[in-house]
Amino acid sequence: MKQALNVAITGAAGHIGYALAFRVASGAMLGADQPINLRLLEITPALPGLQGIVMELEDCAFPLLNQITVTDDARTAFRDCHAALLIGARPRGPGMERKDLLLANAQIFSAQGKALAEAADRNVKVLVVGNPANTNALIARANARGLNARNFTAMTRLDHNRALAQLSRKTATHISAIRRMIIWGNHSATQYPDVSHCFVDGRPASKLVERKWLEESFIPDVQQRGAAVIKARGSSSAASAASAVIDHVRDWVRGTPEGDWVSMAIPADGSYGIPEGVVYSYPVVCRGGDYEIVQGLAIDEFSRSRMQATLKELHEEREGVQELLG
Ligand code: NDP
Repeated sequence: MKQALNVAITGAAGHIGYALAFRVASGAMLGADQPINLRLLEITPALPGLQGIVMELEDCAFPLLNQITVTDDARTAFRDCHAALLIGARPRGPGMERKDLLLANAQIFSAQGKALAEAADRNVKVLVVGNPANTNALIARANARGLNARNFTAMTRLDHNRALAQLSRKTATHISAIRRMIIWGNHSATQYPDVSHCFVDGRPASKLVERKWLEESFIPDVQQRGAAVIKARGSSSAASAASAVIDHVRDWVRGTPEGDWVSMAIPADGSYGIPEGVVYSYPVVCRGGDYEIVQGLAIDEFSRSRMQATLKELHEEREGVQELLG
């Protein structure tokens, strides 16, 4: 039996947390032979509700679930943790400006970055989901001195999966036959879902769909899919977001399929002209528990302008939280 790995989930009593904890405990994320200790973090008022989730986790009798810790203290949650899934974030309140939301969350993520630096395993893999996810990841990373900066990522995998689903429907091809989708930039309405390098059943996607559909339907539909789910369901996507968390961490730890890549928001390193200092979504290949940006893709003028627009938004977000970046 392998040694148990510690997985922290923040905001564990929220909608995404509820959909996520059970799948992590079932082995869907780290493998069917990997025992897990779950560390569930919540704000103090949410702890009683979290106890109910613990009861349900116990009642699932998951063979891989070794131990559950419930806490409102970030250091306790992150002690020796190998994966930190940062889901909990402040929702936008009535009358709250975007800047206020940014700042409220920036404070949460700077504190969590410090707690990770103090307590977590030195190679902890961090995935930020709480919005604004890219900038929250940047803040956590800036405050987590001593940890591997590359290990601070934000989630664009749900956007990537949504883009696959849209293209699958349009071309009447199963998702498993679509390769090399890309989400560039910010997890927001400025993200750029790009099919320029995508293959559908071995054929270039650009040969199968018209430009008009890409510009007028595909791109805005992927960008606005979250809002469409809220409109239909009356609350935001939770199960699909949790599923994307599983996909992101599973592929990071266990590798991407041969001949394909995935989208992850990671610290920019200058690739594709995106300067350091933002967490930007790129196409990446994962091997041996690490990721590499796919290099050498040709970028046309249309793509370049979309990639710059989402970069501009990330720069604006960064300006709003400059004082917390150290
Ligand atoms: P959810 O679980 O629905 O969402 C959590 C965060 O994920 C939000 O910031 C949400 O952003 C974001 N998110 C990112 N991508 C998606 C997506 N595709 N679909 C939906 N959400 C997405 O929120 P709840 O309010 O149900 O739960 C949050 C929990 O976090 C609460 O239980 C709260 O108590 C807790 N919390 C914990 C903290 C901590 O552990 N220190 C700190 C703050 C809160 P958006 O709002 O833009 O949808």
